[in-house]
Amino acid sequence: MAKNGAMAGDPLQPSLLGEAVAAGDAPGLEGLQRSCQDCRRCGLAAGRQQVVISRGDPAARLMVIGEGPGAQEDASGRPFVGRAGQLLDQMLASVGLDSERDAYVCNVVKCRPPDNRKPTAQEMAACAPWLAVQIAAVDPAIVLLTGATALEGVLGIKGGISRLRGQWHPWQGRWVMPVFHPSYLLRNPSREQGSPKWLTWQDLKEVQRRLELDQPPPPTL
Ligand code: SF4
Repeated sequence: MAKNGAMAGDPLQPSLLGEAVAAGDAPGLEGLQRSCQDCRRCGLAAGRQQVVISRGDPAARLMVIGEGPGAQEDASGRPFVGRAGQLLDQMLASVGLDSERDAYVCNVVKCRPPDNRKPTAQEMAACAPWLAVQIAAVDPAIVLLTGATALEGVLGIKGGISRLRGQWHPWQGRWVMPVFHPSYLLRNPSREQGSPKWLTWQDLKEVQRRLELDQPPPPTL
């Protein structure tokens, strides 16, 4: 159990996620696995087939955070394995990154919202301690937030994904970049210059560039 109380008492608000991560003393990914399987902290537990925790490499320097499991993720127990996940893999591969080898992939909520609706603020808050454990254990240098829900769930910023995508946000000693969610890119398949897909490709190239640079944000930020 974390000293910061992340596993007990009232759920953390997403805006407090940074404090939970900074507090350290997380139970680790093995403990997370066990605890998440039994988690009933929010109503999403009622409709799930499986708790969807992660895929990829826990030692990776890049963490990809999405919204929540869809039908295929709920059935398989692995995040980002449907069409959107396949597109994410392809786009990462196009900049030389393998989603299983070079990234740790997870979601803001670990159980599937009914009809793939956006998770509520209460559900995100209930699940925030689990995400905090993941961030603390993986300790990524770079966090990629895919879509508006991940942006809200991690940085507490509502709206503005079109304005904020592609921008670096120093956060807890890491670089965080919001990008469009691959589901949005599936609905906007144009690759023309300036299109959402083209912009995301530029963003991922920038992510790859910063991974190579291997420089954390200045401590004053
Ligand atoms: S979504 Fe998160 S908080 Fe809600 S039941 Fe699933 S694991 Fe627990």
